[in-house]
Amino acid sequence: MDLCNMNDVKALLGRHGFHFSKSLGQNFLIQSWVPQDIAAASGADKNTGVLEIGPGIGPLTRELARRAGKVVALELDKALLPILDETLAEFPNAHVISADVTKTDCAALVCEQFDGLRPIVCANLPYNITTLVITQLLECGAFQSITIMIQKEVAKRICAAPGTADFGAFSLFCQYHARCEYLFEVPKECFLPAPKVTSAVVKLDILDKPPVEVQDEAVLFRVIRAAFAQRRKTLINALSAGFSELTKEQINSCISACGLAPQVRGEKLGLAEFARLADAVNSL
Ligand code: SAM
Repeated sequence: MDLCNMNDVKALLGRHGFHFSKSLGQNFLIQSWVPQDIAAASGADKNTGVLEIGPGIGPLTRELARRAGKVVALELDKALLPILDETLAEFPNAHVISADVTKTDCAALVCEQFDGLRPIVCANLPYNITTLVITQLLECGAFQSITIMIQKEVAKRICAAPGTADFGAFSLFCQYHARCEYLFEVPKECFLPAPKVTSAVVKLDILDKPPVEVQDEAVLFRVIRAAFAQRRKTLINALSAGFSELTKEQINSCISACGLAPQVRGEKLGLAEFARLADAVNSL
């Protein structure tokens, strides 16, 4: 059965009495080049253990299972489990777990499932939980890379450079943890049903250590969040609003100690500048 052939997919879903759930972000791939190219981009090989999130009816799972040592796919919708039993029957190295990724301890899963394998993530993510799941996967520190299809807008934000319209706190968070690469776009017509937005595939290669050193990561991300909470404000005003325990003079002294102009906006600063600023705030 071709899991990306529209007629095969409709017949399979009809036979199982399956109905799409919008709230679970169910848009299934119906163009075979897409799961092939995503799986190839993930770099999965026989030494890799792949965590897939949301296998749907399994087109990407199959492509990954052809390449990887083992694939573990977490699927929240129990109605898809009997379908996956059928579509993955020929792939003994693909295992489906009925679970919500947001409630899963991914570091523990990697220890239990991927002993001796290089752990990576590859998925066509449900769009309603994209940033939540990326944050979870980066913070758990268990994977070497994350290759995901997400909304184009979020993909652009992840890979954005300082001073561009897409650049923000989420860009800095992702780039603190990974080298982020915008790979290719996938048109709406490649899905059943077609989503409202264009999708894009990004690859996050997790860094051995962050690109900047800071005294306290929590302070770094507090400074970043404050700077972008009101992105049209100058840095001094944005930080004053975010750090009510500090005086404007103290914030000004931190900004000038870093060699920055007080009227600069946070959106112009890169990770290195935010790291210097965070250390200056931390040393007050
Ligand atoms: N991989 C399939 C494909 O490319 O055709 C389906 C992708 S579809 C965009 C997202 C999948 O994630 C659906 O199968 C949906 O049921 C599942 N899903 C949604 N929320 C989930 C969650 N919290 N945990 C695990 N799976 C979830």
